[in-house]
Amino acid sequence: MTAQLDTPSLGAAYALKCRECGATTALDASYACMECFGPLEVAYDATVVTREQIEAGPVSMWRYEALLPVAPGAHSRAGLRPGFTKLVRADNLAAELGARVVWVKDDSGNPTHSFKDRVVAVALENGRRLGYGTIACASTGNLANAVAAAAARAGLKSVVFVPSNLEAGKIITTAVYGGTLVAIDGNYDDVNRLCSEIASNRDWGFVNVNLRPYYAEGSKTVGFEVAEQLGWRLPDAVVSPVASGSLLTKVDKAFREFVDLGLVESRPYQVFGAQATGCSPVAQAFRAGHDVIRPVKPDTIAKSLAIGNPADGPYALDVVRRTGGAIADVSDDEVVEGIKLLARTEGIFAETAGGVVVATYRKLLAEGLIDPGAEVVLLNTGDGLKTLDAVAPTSQPTFTISPSYDDFETHYAGATA
Ligand SMILES: *Cc1c(COP(=O)(O)O)cnc(C)c1O
Ligand SMILES: [Zn+2]
Repeated sequence: MTAQLDTPSLGAAYALKCRECGATTALDASYACMECFGPLEVAYDATVVTREQIEAGPVSMWRYEALLPVAPGAHSRAGLRPGFTKLVRADNLAAELGARVVWVKDDSGNPTHSFKDRVVAVALENGRRLGYGTIACASTGNLANAVAAAAARAGLKSVVFVPSNLEAGKIITTAVYGGTLVAIDGNYDDVNRLCSEIASNRDWGFVNVNLRPYYAEGSKTVGFEVAEQLGWRLPDAVVSPVASGSLLTKVDKAFREFVDLGLVESRPYQVFGAQATGCSPVAQAFRAGHDVIRPVKPDTIAKSLAIGNPADGPYALDVVRRTGGAIADVSDDEVVEGIKLLARTEGIFAETAGGVVVATYRKLLAEGLIDPGAEVVLLNTGDGLKTLDAVAPTSQPTFTISPSYDDFETHYAGATA
């Protein structure tokens, strides 16, 4: 037996590396640097991947397997196969907003209807490699959903933790998979704190605690797909929702990796962040010109983005500032308008996070912070069916009548006058 057998290859990934001091450690279940407590990120050896190899791959996020911390062949496992969701050209929305070219990257098409299936897929591969029989997470809703489903499919146990005030649509769609669903009377930041404590006492793979470096890499596939689906090129701008800030930073990382690999031409692009005003610590820091993020107590209908103390907030600020973007926030009323605007113009029903993105894009245009001539990609990260409560009060039948023709004519004339 050689030591090689105990450390199966993770493709080009060779270590976990501290984002602050650069110290490296083995590819195990750790997330904080032993030297400085900085967050760890997966480090890769230089690798060669061609467009042709990727195009010949599976129609899922596993087509980018060579650029993820997974053993070769991960795609052949009978997982849920998230990704390669639609990139929809949104000409009606663009016309309504007076913008030139707008695309919607629609991640509601994933197996559990949010982009979280991507991060879970990579974390689960590593949880299995590291021998965990139970997969867990601290979640604002969608992550719990994705973990419960993926664990069911993989034949693993799941224990997921959520704030008890979540939307019914997220509780039910998680509980149905049969794992343990723990609702906690507290906000996400309370849930997260408790999970860190549980993680250090239990031999469980917490996808966004001890498996977080792997989890985070899954978000790169959103950026990879955008570039490939645009015909192997980068857009002028991306608007990303911000909860912990991880997705935003990983879309930027994906673009830079594609440039480094020679898969797309290098060009300037701007990354914009979107938050709900009721939980906008990163937008507030951006506006104030601060590097440090002051935690807030979330109070917004955009519960999937309700992280008051965002772990990757400072890195999201770095990306936005480096690329000449901005981070803005919108009120809950604007979030609902954003959902309805996208639905009415493009036939896409986004969850509240998507409403945040559309409304923030509109605001950035109005404030002159984004060029209406820019080709923009809006990230819709979840499905509106999970957050029906947000639009229910303003989305009701146009009119209700008896089954009478005269009644119909009278009401229809009145309603369309
Ligand atoms: C988790 C989530 C996000 C943002 O995630 P980050 O923590 O910033 O990576 C965005 N949209 C939806 C719908 C989510 O569930
Ligand atoms: Zn360090």
